[in-house]
Amino acid sequence: MELAGATVLETTVVEEIVKLHEYQAKELFSAYGIPVPAEQLIESMESLDAITLPFPWVLKAQVLVGGRGKAGGIKLAPNIAEAKELVDAMFRLTIKGSPVRRILVAPSVQIEQEYYVSLALDRSHKAFALIASAEGGMEIEEVARSAPEKIFRRDIDPWRGLSAYEGRLAAKALGFTGKRIMEFAQIAVALYRILVQEDAELVEINPLALTPEGLLALDAKVILDDSAKFRQNHASNDEETTPLEQKAKSLGLAYVELDGYVAVIGCGAGLVMASLDVLNSLGAKPANFLDIGGGASAELMRQGLAIVLEKPGVRSVLINIFAGITRCDEIAKGIVDYGPQLPISVRMTGTNEELGIQFLNEHGYHAFHTMEEAAGHAARLAHEEVR
Ligand code: GDP
Ligand code: MN
Repeated sequence: MELAGATVLETTVVEEIVKLHEYQAKELFSAYGIPVPAEQLIESMESLDAITLPFPWVLKAQVLVGGRGKAGGIKLAPNIAEAKELVDAMFRLTIKGSPVRRILVAPSVQIEQEYYVSLALDRSHKAFALIASAEGGMEIEEVARSAPEKIFRRDIDPWRGLSAYEGRLAAKALGFTGKRIMEFAQIAVALYRILVQEDAELVEINPLALTPEGLLALDAKVILDDSAKFRQNHASNDEETTPLEQKAKSLGLAYVELDGYVAVIGCGAGLVMASLDVLNSLGAKPANFLDIGGGASAELMRQGLAIVLEKPGVRSVLINIFAGITRCDEIAKGIVDYGPQLPISVRMTGTNEELGIQFLNEHGYHAFHTMEEAAGHAARLAHEEVR
């Protein structure tokens, strides 16, 4: 896990598709021997009657977004009467766009200290990194900014895997003593086994709580590697995709929604990511992005435009085409077919560039040669619309 802006966007793409819910991640943890609280999942008010856990309960909304606590997604219920009221209110919540369909009911445990531990793929180091900290509970990005010296980090040799020794090293760095050292090491080793055997790219426990009974994973985050789907029987959390995302999927287009107001269309994932980064660096927030792939026809371009523009709140569209097998004249035709006078900004270069640009010009559109120019124009279009 890198902490730079560019990688955060990359994670967003993955999270939409293969991030597990806390309860699913904890089932995995439990299967690999990581201690988790005895919890029960409910999907309706009625199932509350079947809960046999002692009070007080922690009620946890199962949504795939962070910061649930602040958004009312985590509550403490001292008795059944209050639990009913809280659960009823929680089922009506939509947290950052995700409706609460399931609630995890957990027994409240006594926490002596909260720790952080994760294993994440670090592409720049070509390895998984074990990251741990005694500053659990808060976001690790926050700790990385304010107190980087409190983070233990070690790249794991992909051939040797994570050894118990490395787990103990981390445990000692976090200040564990006595039998807790081995306990922590076993958890780290189990996390690594999950990564390898389940084809995950991130496993995270935050907080890993020290309780009078020992260490306990109070929260769980797992992101699976979607390119391993062919050999894994992973649950897919497709219910989280929006109607537009499903529509794009049915057309074979990669489309993901974000929170901003500039739509992005590009050919190829790398170019799309770069477009998002440039927009972000200009202070313009992407609304969504769509990868029309290589060799797109005019019709596919037209349908792609229709999808990104259907999202409410879109104020302008950045179209970034670096054409190899794609033909600029086809792309231009798709844009013009969709309609005139759109708040779009086009960057077009490569195969049949002159033809494409000429066609756009004839229909009142300008095309830029560089991504930076086009992104700047898309940002201006969006910001002007607000005024
Ligand atoms: P997140 O905010 O979405 O990451 O949700 P977490 O599952 O990490 O919970 C947030 C915080 O709630 C934790 O850092 C704990 O401080 C607290 N919490 C969660 N479960 C328990 C519990 O069983 N007992 C107590 N006392 N606090 C809990
Ligand atoms: Mn957490």
